[in-house]
Amino acid sequence: MRSTLPASLLLALGCLSHCLAQTDASLPKLPHVDLTNVDPSVSPCADFYQYVCGKINAANPIPPDEIWWGPAEELQNWNRAVLHQILEKNKAPDPARSPNEQKIGDFYASCMNQPAEGELAEIQPILERISAMKDKRDIAATLALIHSSFGRAWEGSDNQTNVALLGYGPGADYNDVSRVVAGVDQGGLGMPGRDFYLKSDDDSKKIRDQYVTFIVSLLKLTGVGDADATRDAATILRVETAMAQSHMDNITRRDPNKVNNRYTLATLKALTPAFDWDAYLRGLNAPQVPLYEVSSPDFFRTLNKLLTAEDLATWKLYLRFHTLRSAAPPLGKAWRDASFELLKTLLGQQQQDPDWRRCAIAVDHYMGEALGQVYVAQVFPPESKARALKMVKDIESAMGRDIDSVSWMQATTKKEAHQKLAAVIEKIGYPDNWIDYSSLSISRDSYLANVERATAFELKRQLAFIGHPLDRKQWVMTPPTVDAYEDPQTNTINFPAGMLQPPFFDAAADDVLNYGAEGAIMGHEMTHDFDDQGRKFDVKGNLRDWWTPEDAKQYEQRGSCIAHEYTGPVPGIAGVEQNGKLTQGEDTADNGGIYLALAALSEDLKQQGKSLDDKDAAGRTNLQRFFIAFATGWCDQIRPEAIRTLILTNPHSAPFLRVNNVVANMPEFQKAFGCKAGDAEVHAKQCRVW
Ligand SMILES: [Zn+2]
Repeated sequence: MRSTLPASLLLALGCLSHCLAQTDASLPKLPHVDLTNVDPSVSPCADFYQYVCGKINAANPIPPDEIWWGPAEELQNWNRAVLHQILEKNKAPDPARSPNEQKIGDFYASCMNQPAEGELAEIQPILERISAMKDKRDIAATLALIHSSFGRAWEGSDNQTNVALLGYGPGADYNDVSRVVAGVDQGGLGMPGRDFYLKSDDDSKKIRDQYVTFIVSLLKLTGVGDADATRDAATILRVETAMAQSHMDNITRRDPNKVNNRYTLATLKALTPAFDWDAYLRGLNAPQVPLYEVSSPDFFRTLNKLLTAEDLATWKLYLRFHTLRSAAPPLGKAWRDASFELLKTLLGQQQQDPDWRRCAIAVDHYMGEALGQVYVAQVFPPESKARALKMVKDIESAMGRDIDSVSWMQATTKKEAHQKLAAVIEKIGYPDNWIDYSSLSISRDSYLANVERATAFELKRQLAFIGHPLDRKQWVMTPPTVDAYEDPQTNTINFPAGMLQPPFFDAAADDVLNYGAEGAIMGHEMTHDFDDQGRKFDVKGNLRDWWTPEDAKQYEQRGSCIAHEYTGPVPGIAGVEQNGKLTQGEDTADNGGIYLALAALSEDLKQQGKSLDDKDAAGRTNLQRFFIAFATGWCDQIRPEAIRTLILTNPHSAPFLRVNNVVANMPEFQKAFGCKAGDAEVHAKQCRVW
């Protein structure tokens, strides 16, 4: 890397390695908030999203290998380019590499150098084990082998755990987070959620047809003939559809009280007597545990019926296909091509990722904290961490003032809310203690074998949490991730270094822009602690109702205003509507987050002798600059196929709603841009929770 500035000056600016990376000509250009990009032909009071994003989006069409495109994706690609440099530097066998550098470098090399024909031979032992099953009682032990090799059986999504049959992993006891127990989740579907099996509109049928084509393609790649593959695909779809019918829907799934279903091993066995739990747990090497939290007992009742009713041949077929599906991306090019055809239909992506990016993503996915250590050393200096931490602390203070100021909460509830707020742990950038990968062996020989070993390593690491107190310091996102999260059970808010970069967090920008773009995200995570899910957890992270009945009623009224406001059709997308009950938590967080960021900024400006009314050289007030920076972060374009999938499976609203509905609820926005009652960006009924 080269720089035109002497090191001493860079140190004085406070961003040595950060600035070096940002000026590295071999990396893509990072976007910054540019206030001159607004479209003066659009009134901010008519459509603020279009006012801020119209010109930016028109100048940045979605590249063919992206499903959505905007500042977050540009930043993610920049992060991946940094990872690419790190991996290229470490890919050659060199005895001078550290143990972690050897692992990430060889993992990457095995991915880049995979033979063109793929590595089907590597998974033959699992396929043979499936073929050799003599009895349906063998399904459980075979499933344990599959879950130990591919997929993430411990990781649930908003809809299901995305592996064969069921999910299994550690989870804090909802009633008592001081102990980690076992979580058992609905799974078994190869499409992203139950609606994809059950809806009858034309797009849903088209997706199902493409899914059948995908199943046929994978089976044919293992030598199955055309007619057999077609018949087998119909069988697999039939079994999965039966599973989907009993899946808990993703709105019910948002209620922690609905997924807190408590079983012992004995009652779990009674729930699904056709599944040999002892063999499955033995196969995973899972520790003994007094409590199994079963997200959706109805699913397991149905699974039991299916295990009884369907014959062994059908289950062999099902497990064979799901092994291939879970292993498909690292199996080889033909497998990726088949998966990509399905991805095109589901998300609209036109072109696959270049190999270097696909392989960098894989190393981040499987060994994220080994790669992430090098990433943060290179692009996330202590000064950035300190500045981000101060912002988060100031936003927490703003939350405290907000709790004090609301008129609808009584003193007892406010007291509990303050205790909960005071106990929040804010994690910035990267973990204090990195994962120790020393027991994971990575070689240059086989990409698929590396994936299997890394999956087994992570499963073992996850299962080791069971039986111990919940670890509040561990992360579920890797450092280069452009995202952030809140976890009500650990009572933490977490901001990976990957998102503490421009245009969201910009060492070169002033507080106004940073609070607008990144502060609103920090406030979003803070608000999650008190959204319609988060508020059900107490200071310790336990699921406990600490609200007076009257305060809870007041809260629900405010929440339903938001849920109603965000429900309705999405322009250009037929057959599905956004359901505000699914997105309520995220929408509450979006609305609360910007208020908190604005309150924290206002306080910080006051301390600096400045104000929100101060103007820049172009005559823009700080309040206007704040809102423009906020909206810039959401200048995302999404392919229609992806929006449709998002609406059905994801609790986040479409980007234009994340701007327009939020500002239309804010008198501060109307003041900033002189909007009047009757303008589109002034909602007649303005919703506010926090
Ligand atoms: Zn969120």
